[in-house]
Amino acid sequence: MSVFDHPEFDQHECVHFVHDEASGLRAIIAVHNTVRGPALGGCRMWPYASSADALTDVLRLSRGMTYKSAMANIDLGGGKSVIIGDARQMKSDALVRAMGRAVDRLGGLYIAAEDSGTSVEDLRRMGEVTAHVGGVIERPGPGGEPHSGDPSPATALGVFHGLAAAVRFQLQRDDLEGVRVAIQGVGNVGYRLAGHLHAAGAKLVVADIHQPNIDRVVEAYGADVVPVAEIDAQAVDVFAPCALGSAINAATLSRLQAKVIAGAANNQLDRRAHDQALLDRGILYAPDYVINAGGIIDIFYERTGYTWDKVERHLRGIGDTVTEVFERSRRDGVPTGQVADLIAESRFRRV
Ligand code: NAD
Repeated sequence: MSVFDHPEFDQHECVHFVHDEASGLRAIIAVHNTVRGPALGGCRMWPYASSADALTDVLRLSRGMTYKSAMANIDLGGGKSVIIGDARQMKSDALVRAMGRAVDRLGGLYIAAEDSGTSVEDLRRMGEVTAHVGGVIERPGPGGEPHSGDPSPATALGVFHGLAAAVRFQLQRDDLEGVRVAIQGVGNVGYRLAGHLHAAGAKLVVADIHQPNIDRVVEAYGADVVPVAEIDAQAVDVFAPCALGSAINAATLSRLQAKVIAGAANNQLDRRAHDQALLDRGILYAPDYVINAGGIIDIFYERTGYTWDKVERHLRGIGDTVTEVFERSRRDGVPTGQVADLIAESRFRRV
């Protein structure tokens, strides 16, 4: 099958297949859209079962980045790269540098950032052979504390503002005092989100497959703990998926008691049609790529003159953006995910 006939192909501007014999690098770089600016997106290293699987992933993820940056209203386009291989076994200095050179050959059309299987350190190493890497500069974060390029604090704060806006819209509550939130996954983002929610007076119930992460959130914020299989069915106001994709699927849809879905995970809806199902059930869904854009916003300011104040202001704006989506959804009777797509498309299809 050619790339042009691929089901995930969506007017991508270009797709580069990369091979470096000496290091064993096999990678694909997909640039979906650069109307708003250079295509920034993570460089993922994953043991794909086949190059076809890698192609599917990179086409889908690069498209997603275009929508995310457009909704965040930043001057970046959408791109992504995937390295085929197990990071724990195959990653080497030579391979990372070969990837850096491949990125460099695109002359700035694509900017790489960390992702699953790559670290800020890997990106810094790539940065020795190309200027086109992002999320690598040590900078002042919340409270003036230096932060290394990890986007999680910004992502968590953005999700917090989006969640608060959803509660305001759906539950007519101006604060989160006593609001019950179930967090699925308390890792880098989920744990920090728990911190913001706790400070705002929310009541937390959490689940995670990793016991140390549970212990940490119980100790710090007094969260209640439930089994992993029960977190989506809690009698709460908000369900916040912060673990893996497809948290909203045919099985969980029928169990949900929350009136708001607002979390950090990418691809929260197992199927697009679940967007309509949530609307039909009167559950307000804050589209994932709208409220989890904090990380890309953080990296964007690295390129344009970074101060945490600027980042924080922009993250607060996620609340306004998502409210605009909710209002249009209610006015037009269209699911929130579809509304977000339409707004994003109007921004990146306009030349
Ligand atoms: P992470 O790996 O640090 O945390 C994920 C947590 O979920 C871990 O504690 C893990 O043990 C737990 N988990 C895994 N499977 C689970 C399950 N079935 N039930 C309950 N818990 C489970 O990842 P993260 O950086 O916190 O990212 C969380 C989600 O947000 C991911 O989907 C990621 O793609 C998305 N996201 C993250 C960022 C970011 O800045 N880190 C930005 C945008 C989107």
